[in-house]
Amino acid sequence: MKLFGSSGIRGIANKEITPELALKVGLVLGSRKKTAVIGRDPRVSAPMIEHALIAGLTASGCAVTEIGLVTTPTLAYAARNYECGVMVTASHNPSEYIGIKLWNPDGMAFDSAQQDEIERAIEEESFTRVPWNLIGKFEEDGNAIRDHINKIKKLVKGSSLKIVLDCGCGAGGTISPYLLQELGCEVITLNAQPDGHFPARNPEPTDENLSMLKKAVVEFGADLGIAHDGDADRMMAVDEKGKFVSGDELLAIFGLYECGSSKGTVVVPVDTSMMVDDYLEGSEIVRTRVGDVYVAEGIKLCGAIYGGEPSGSWIFPKISYCPDGVYAAARLVDIVSEKKLSELRKELPCYATKRGTLPCANEKKAELMKKVKAKLEPLGEVLDIDGIRVEMENGWVLVRPSGTEAKVRITAEARENVDELFELAEKIVREALK
Ligand code: MG
Repeated sequence: MKLFGSSGIRGIANKEITPELALKVGLVLGSRKKTAVIGRDPRVSAPMIEHALIAGLTASGCAVTEIGLVTTPTLAYAARNYECGVMVTASHNPSEYIGIKLWNPDGMAFDSAQQDEIERAIEEESFTRVPWNLIGKFEEDGNAIRDHINKIKKLVKGSSLKIVLDCGCGAGGTISPYLLQELGCEVITLNAQPDGHFPARNPEPTDENLSMLKKAVVEFGADLGIAHDGDADRMMAVDEKGKFVSGDELLAIFGLYECGSSKGTVVVPVDTSMMVDDYLEGSEIVRTRVGDVYVAEGIKLCGAIYGGEPSGSWIFPKISYCPDGVYAAARLVDIVSEKKLSELRKELPCYATKRGTLPCANEKKAELMKKVKAKLEPLGEVLDIDGIRVEMENGWVLVRPSGTEAKVRITAEARENVDELFELAEKIVREALK
């Protein structure tokens, strides 16, 4: 069984992700690390999984520090003082899900090699139980949120903007309202009380899930609306007119301000809009596989100053390699205090995008992609790190097999006539499917 997905171990609580499994993860990890810091999001099942992990970690001799209900970036930042970090969260998934995500001291999630090692050890039951007098020490630390706030305050200026902040009843309610207030903002909160049933809205901060925030920004005459997902590693925004700002737009805006006049390197996944390349002209744009952990790896590899994923994951290595929605919110406040968000959006180039899927059996995907690559190669510059992306004069197309479903996804973006570009790609995939 494949335990780890692109976002760690995740599944339905007490069915796929059980205390027995968490105990084993704890035993395996605790047999390899001497110290660990652990935190959790507000999900109903989180304390159950967290306690099983603590039992496993201490039983194998690892000293555990528990920091309680925190955001994922708070946990990842706290990991700097330990050999590893453990976050019990299912991020933006619905209430019935839970997950375990493991962190390195620099705030980078465990990479695939580290995950494979843990997975193999669980299968082989490769762990040690220590004698009673070597059982890991357990302690609680209530300072992690304060430390994270203080670190962010050193990196931003702050301003007196009026902000509506929607924490979606997630972990963001433990930190973002306090941070923004301390930065001088007038903060109106929505759903700031953590509640694992997520009664207010779906925890994923998408345009359709943020109708309350969009309305509140207009009605309160606020300068900015900010929304988090369930564990606040993500952040999305609404401009002062109550309009949702797309992930590609935010990616470009953060990029411009992070690069400044120095024009550094920015890392983005392969499906990011070419609007980012055009807006950040002069900066080097490096593309990676889709998934925030690949973006983080890319940033580390190229020594980039910033990277992000249009889903709302913004990574600033000056704080950690974990997407930090809390820091991103504070950073956006600085940006918007210089220029209104709607005006910043007007400066961005805008291209048409078209997306679609075609059915394709999982076992046929590899062969299909080989054929598609041969057909697309003559059309332009090919990038094949995650599906096949081909760059042409007028735009680009991406053909990418779905990781979870029997489908292949086609994306096209064009300066003009996106339909023509999309149909060209679709025709190639259809023929290759025959
Ligand atoms: Mg998340």
